[in-house]
Amino acid sequence: MPDLEVRNPSRRSEVVGTVREASAADVDAAARAAAAAQRGWAAEPAAARADALVRAAARIEASADELGVLLAREAGVPVAEATREAGGAAHLLRAAAELAATLDHADEHDTAGGGRIRVGRRPLGVVAGIVPWNAPLGLAAQKVGPALVAGNAVIVKPSPLAPLAVTRLLGLLAGELPEDLLSVVNGAGETGSALIAHPVVRKVSFTGGGETARHIMRAAADRLTRVHFELGGNDPAVVLDDADLDLAAERIAQTAFRRAGQICYAVKRVYVPERAATDFTDRLRARVDALAIGDAVDPRTTMGPVNNARQFESVSALAERTRRAGRSVLELGAPVDETPWEDGWYLRPALVPDADHGDELVTVEQFGPLLPVVSYRSEDDAIAMANDSEYGLGSSVWSADPDHAFAVASRIEAGVTFVNGHVLSPDAFRLVPFGGVKQSGIGWENSPAGLDEYLEFHSIDVHPVPPAR
Ligand code: NAD
Repeated sequence: MPDLEVRNPSRRSEVVGTVREASAADVDAAARAAAAAQRGWAAEPAAARADALVRAAARIEASADELGVLLAREAGVPVAEATREAGGAAHLLRAAAELAATLDHADEHDTAGGGRIRVGRRPLGVVAGIVPWNAPLGLAAQKVGPALVAGNAVIVKPSPLAPLAVTRLLGLLAGELPEDLLSVVNGAGETGSALIAHPVVRKVSFTGGGETARHIMRAAADRLTRVHFELGGNDPAVVLDDADLDLAAERIAQTAFRRAGQICYAVKRVYVPERAATDFTDRLRARVDALAIGDAVDPRTTMGPVNNARQFESVSALAERTRRAGRSVLELGAPVDETPWEDGWYLRPALVPDADHGDELVTVEQFGPLLPVVSYRSEDDAIAMANDSEYGLGSSVWSADPDHAFAVASRIEAGVTFVNGHVLSPDAFRLVPFGGVKQSGIGWENSPAGLDEYLEFHSIDVHPVPPAR
């Protein structure tokens, strides 16, 4: 099979590296080898599996700088953030290792007449992980960690748009594991399809777009392969009338334009009380205007390019349609000196301060640096608009009054609602079942609920036997 070329979105003329595209025969070989390796792995004590993840976490941490630069160059993620993602992947593996303690426990019950019931959990076998390009290290680690600690073998298919750093990271992890237990098959949709169709693959854990998820679900139906989906979002930020506007503007600007808006759970629409709208928008505008757009490896850059041509074209076209619909599209920020603007997929961060809830930009997942602000009259209206979406991944409520914030947060339809922030706190990676409701996903990652995704029950029901006559 040919090598796949990976180009730098900050400098399209530069080839960052190549990966070998897996053939159907490669996928078959990886799946069969994984199935053979899995049996011995599942027989190890859970604590030994956890130890391997902890050792791998240390190796990954030691390579975080190198992984960060590689991710920055292939994906356009600013290098400081890309390096944090590599460290975050190590943190996720440790969090998965901590869950091992629950695995050796089986519920045992004595039943009427001298019987016994034992309910235990077992790994599934071979699991496929399919990941996107926007945060490949963290997204792969949060699948692979719990799947391995549960006793499964894993085959990961990265996106052809950012396969290099994740292949390297998983190589470091595989170095601490039995041979063939964890492997990577590179390629596009066809490689993913071959993996899903393989008879030994028992579950597909997929992070990506809804359209792809529909294809995967159809393909998985043939063999009744289990699916686990982490999909897109259109996260609302509901700024309440008692919010600290300065804090809200600062933090909303940070999350909405992080990775040039290409994060599944990030603020994608803002609702603000009518009487505070101008004040809030002025503050938000100042923050967004301070963004420095440039090459992802340039330390001065606070917003890199978007990842690829499809992203560039779809976000540019959405901005153009928003403009033609009569809205103000305020292009802000400024390029860092020497940014090779024409050679990269650069976009200016933009605010649409006069958006309406019915606008296309408010309804779709823009997945780019383009943020609508919608004003509202009553809190009930704001909550209704926040919930009026086919998505339900993240969300946030902004208020200086914790009780008020909590009451509103409880009414939001989403997998997670943040208060006065819009990012998972470090402990949340251990504690919060991460996932979406409605079209944003099926299943959960991280936390004990994330471990359960990679286990199935096995029960033993011992019937009482009458005494010998
Ligand atoms: P995508 O759906 O195009 O691709 C994701 C992965 O699926 C890639 O590895 C791709 O090669 C593979 N793929 C494509 N077609 C396939 C097929 N027919 N069979 C099997 N695999 C196939 O998504 P993307 O453009 O890489 O990522 C952007 C989307 O991902 C956005 O919608 C974003 O919101 C979503 N996302 C969700 C989360 C989450 O945790 N909920 C996290 C990050 C991204």
